[in-house]
Amino acid sequence: LTLPRDATIYIAGHRGLAGSALWRGLEARGFSSLVGVPSAEADLRDRQAARRVIEDVRPDVIFLAAARVGGIAANIAAPTDFLSENLQIQANVMDAAAAKGVPKLVFLGSSCIYPRLAPQPLREEYLMTGPLEPTNEAYAVAKIAGIMHVKAVRQQYGLKWISVMPSNLYGPGDNFHPQKSHVVPGMIRRFHEAKVNGVEEVAVWGTGRARRELLFADDFADGTLHALEHFDGSDFINVGSGEDISIADLAALVARVVGYDGTLSQDLSKPDGMPQKLLDTSRMQELGWTSSTSLEQGLRQTYEWFLSEVAAHE
Ligand code: GDP
Repeated sequence: LTLPRDATIYIAGHRGLAGSALWRGLEARGFSSLVGVPSAEADLRDRQAARRVIEDVRPDVIFLAAARVGGIAANIAAPTDFLSENLQIQANVMDAAAAKGVPKLVFLGSSCIYPRLAPQPLREEYLMTGPLEPTNEAYAVAKIAGIMHVKAVRQQYGLKWISVMPSNLYGPGDNFHPQKSHVVPGMIRRFHEAKVNGVEEVAVWGTGRARRELLFADDFADGTLHALEHFDGSDFINVGSGEDISIADLAALVARVVGYDGTLSQDLSKPDGMPQKLLDTSRMQELGWTSSTSLEQGLRQTYEWFLSEVAAHE
């Protein structure tokens, strides 16, 4: 990065999956002035709190990685929270940053912004060309509002902010809640517990036919820093691994990594959600970036982190 190594970089959401990976990535590149504010000290859903943080920190760069996130079941159970809290966090941080003229902000979106039945792989220009996937449309609308907010700030204030759209992220620091988490940590926990407790069969949610593109969080951080340096568009850019996998094949791979050799069955009472969600990553490739961690390597690192940081403390 050409950014000065002493630039003040505020990572909103620095304890989350994406934010903590960005922190590691920036630290590894020698940035010495990273700022994170725990949510107990500043709740970014609170407009005054967000303004105070921006005024105190006076960042040169903001990574807006703070968000209410969760897997398919959490999104179905609490769509209001996913809509409202994300709109609040985004508007509070971006309004305060625009008022202070913060020159650079990177907004983190999600691949669920694309229409449910858009052609695959998903190109950036498919935004708002059709209806959204119902299981996460509230969250998706909040993320689309965030993209528009960045675009509007660029137009109105001339600040060179950007948005990046990751595919489904996983990695160290993820949330391993058995019901509310995303698919990878959900499977890791349930297969691990089945192994430890000698349970002979585990039901995998849905038909197994849905496909997901998974991206290791540290690869996403690497791609986002690459985009910060090389991308300056008023829309946004996809950051993905370029490959997807069926939920059934993913389950078999996670079971192998965890060392669970019981039977995998289906829980058809659980939804599949979007049939496929594979990002087209040609823009990032044209800018000279591709992801580097294989799914198996990434799953192994994630399982090790789960064992030492989660399972060991329960
Ligand atoms: P999504 O990409 O927004 O749908 O989010 P998820 O990460 O929750 O992925 C959901 C997909 O994985 C759906 O097709 C689910 O049916 C399937 N899946 C299978 N097992 C699990 C699990 O244990 N947890 C979650 N969250 N999803 C699962």
